[in-house]
Amino acid sequence: MMEQVMQHEVAVRLSFFFGVLALVALWEVLAPRRALTVSKALRWVSNLGIVVLNSVVLRLVFPTAAVGMAALAVENGWGLFNNLALPGWVAIALSVALLDLTIYMQHVMVHAVPLLWRLHRMHHADMDYDVTTGARFHPLEILLSMVIKFAAIAVIGPPVFAVLVFEVLLNATAMFNHANAGLPAGLDRWLRWLVVTPDMHRVHHSVVPREANSNFGFNLPWWDRLFGTYRAQPEAGHQGMTIGIDRFRQPRDQRLDQMLIQPFIGQTSAYPITSDGPSGEGK
Ligand SMILES: [Zn+2]
Ligand SMILES: [Zn+2]
Repeated sequence: MMEQVMQHEVAVRLSFFFGVLALVALWEVLAPRRALTVSKALRWVSNLGIVVLNSVVLRLVFPTAAVGMAALAVENGWGLFNNLALPGWVAIALSVALLDLTIYMQHVMVHAVPLLWRLHRMHHADMDYDVTTGARFHPLEILLSMVIKFAAIAVIGPPVFAVLVFEVLLNATAMFNHANAGLPAGLDRWLRWLVVTPDMHRVHHSVVPREANSNFGFNLPWWDRLFGTYRAQPEAGHQGMTIGIDRFRQPRDQRLDQMLIQPFIGQTSAYPITSDGPSGEGK
């Protein structure tokens, strides 16, 4: 039974990944929001290369992944929802929301803790913003993320199906909201109450620290509104804003080998993103 769920999980996740990737990539070609500044071929080889690498590393280190952890929690009666008799759909909806809140808090944390910012800044070092940016995370951050997810699952005790839904959903929305594309302003404003849109998350990739320290949500937009980290638009506009961080702005910084050593470059002294941002910007 367990084995079947796992095989199913990989197939479901892979088909969604390639399906959404193809759709968003097509959208970007048909209606690009910004002109790209770095060779797309270089960035895509690097960003998709890191996806392959992360998949291999994850399978090796945590073969059962988050779905396996959820099954273990069910078997052992760990966590909130494994000890409450709620209707299935309620437990699934609440579990997805709580897992998303965990990811939001983790994202705030990797910006706030200098050592963790070293792992996360590779995501921000992309000088362009497109569908592949959404999957560009350092393998060490991916591993940290999985450990945090394991802990959250042990506490929340979500239905196994909820974890599968969450993983697929997060993957899909991350690619959607990193799109180098935009929606009509009215639709974007409305959709922002349900899901993080490309224009909303793009603000988070601004080189300006106070903009990068806003819009931490990857999936549900509510946490940013609730915790006061929401920022509607970049001050320079979506065409005028600069994407990336100050520390890594050479074309070679977009090479896979360089990206992998980025966590180990430079000193960790000042407050994370301000140390990479323009001087005097403050928080
Ligand atoms: Zn970030
Ligand atoms: Zn991002």
